[in-house]
Amino acid sequence: MTQLSENLNKIKKSIDQINPKAKLLAVTKSVDASTIKALAELGVIAFGENRSDALLEKQAALSSLEKTIEWHFIGRLQTRQVRTIINQIDYLHSLDRLSLAKEIQKRADHEIKCFVQVNVSGEESKAGFKPEELIDQIHVLSQFDKIKIVGLMTMAPYEATDDALHQIFKTLKELQMTISQQNLAYAPCHELSMGMSHDYPIALSEGATIVRIGTALFEGI
Ligand SMILES: *Cc1c(COP(=O)(O)O)cnc(C)c1O
Repeated sequence: MTQLSENLNKIKKSIDQINPKAKLLAVTKSVDASTIKALAELGVIAFGENRSDALLEKQAALSSLEKTIEWHFIGRLQTRQVRTIINQIDYLHSLDRLSLAKEIQKRADHEIKCFVQVNVSGEESKAGFKPEELIDQIHVLSQFDKIKIVGLMTMAPYEATDDALHQIFKTLKELQMTISQQNLAYAPCHELSMGMSHDYPIALSEGATIVRIGTALFEGI
């Protein structure tokens, strides 16, 4: 077995043990198109990039897989890059400000599935809506008919303790439930994009439906 399939099996095993319905998003910003192809051959269908030029390049190199894989944009999206990328992706994980929503509304040629990013930890370096403003802002987003809010996304601080991580992911889950209970057509909000290489088991135990994993997948390859 290759190192890549070994890493993948380990991650899949812990997903199966903790929350078997969760989906693996392979974050491929550190690898090239051939590694993405190898992962697709191992059954991975969702791939995430945080730079629009890299995403478009890899997508072009893998156009033969177009029908079988999904592209997720996970990084901070500059307003001026919206027009080049927004109609090329299946999901945006980082809808983090109203000005970005406005630009998407202007540039999208169909409804875009978006995760609203929430800055649960309150770190200044992190993007996203503040938890206490989120519910109001979700209502403001109803004016943009090109935006479908499929879920919420957060990034936890790298150095957080396990207790703090549990608390952060729990808070995101509570916000997600508050929104989904409102039965808004434009914001079903059933998904939770949370958990990276160092914290995904905790995120899964708190209800993540999609984990974004790079480092743990590509270690040693
Ligand atoms: C890079 C990145 C990840 C994956 O991080 P790893 O620690 O490599 O698993 C997840 N989410 C976002 C937004 C990222 O930029």
